[in-house]
Amino acid sequence: MRMNATLIDGKKLAAETRAEIARGVAALKADTGVTPGLAVILVGENPASISYVTAKEKACAEAGMYSREIRLPSDTPEDKVVEIVQALNTDPAIHGILVQLPLPKGISEKKVIDAIAPEKDVDGFTPVNVGKMLIGDDCFLPCTPHGIIKLIEVTGMDIAGKHAVVIGRSNIVGKPVAALLARKGPHANATVTLCHTGTPDVAAYTKTADIVVVAAGRPNTLTGDMLKPGAVVIDVGVNRIPDASRPSGFRLVGDADFESCAAVASAITPVPGGVGPMTITMLLWNTLLAAGGRIGA
Ligand code: NAP
Repeated sequence: MRMNATLIDGKKLAAETRAEIARGVAALKADTGVTPGLAVILVGENPASISYVTAKEKACAEAGMYSREIRLPSDTPEDKVVEIVQALNTDPAIHGILVQLPLPKGISEKKVIDAIAPEKDVDGFTPVNVGKMLIGDDCFLPCTPHGIIKLIEVTGMDIAGKHAVVIGRSNIVGKPVAALLARKGPHANATVTLCHTGTPDVAAYTKTADIVVVAAGRPNTLTGDMLKPGAVVIDVGVNRIPDASRPSGFRLVGDADFESCAAVASAITPVPGGVGPMTITMLLWNTLLAAGGRIGA
């Protein structure tokens, strides 16, 4: 199948944005002596979570930020995790707190996230930040949705006036990305359709979409025959599928069938190397802002 689509290079955009953030960190240090600090709490031994946390810490160091990893066994009581979050809320060396999800069974994600002080909620997951985002107040934008907006922008497509279809309605990706795309203002103003498992015929919507964001957590949710020619496709999915030819025994694929979608779309993100690097980048962005720094310093 012929590939028509341009590859949206998330790694390149992330590297450029991280260089800008690193300049902001250096300027903040020089002006105020403050080093932005991120605390990452990891409970349990989920291999994907461990690799995400490692990548986040490496990215912090490269941007000149301080990071502190707090690793806890999977049987840590919920109250203990909440206590640790509360201590970080008042720790002056820490400007951002991230709790790596999912948490082990028996620990309420809601209780732990709700314990994060909104001014340190660099993931943008607390009810205060979500509410502010919805009403258009200044806030920490959630990292994956914010990164997705940047990835669409880099294609040169103006989001305003377009039909955007989002597949998936999770609190961390689908719902917030739909809200950001529909906002009144620059880099937004799309007409948005939000699809989920209750949507009887997803293709009926994607066939009229200029932008499709797929965040379903299931390979092949989006195929080329579901697309309008020239659509921009943002593939958020990260799925491990067995692959005996790899030393790890698995490979990563997205939620879109890459080959058939790339034959019809005008631009598409690869997996890996698309949304993932931008998610971490927007986390650094929020941590810099939380420490009082600015982008473009
Ligand atoms: P999630 O909480 O499992 O939500 C998946 C959503 O997709 C649900 O709303 C579900 O509908 C919907 N869905 C599932 N199958 C569908 C189908 N066939 N048609 C229509 N809708 C369907 O997942 P998530 O946390 O949003 O994550 C989605 C994917 O993105 C995962 O693969 C995750 O690993 C990946 N991810 C990547 C990044 C990154 O930085 N690269 C960040 C976050 C997540 P219902 O609500 O009806 O169940």
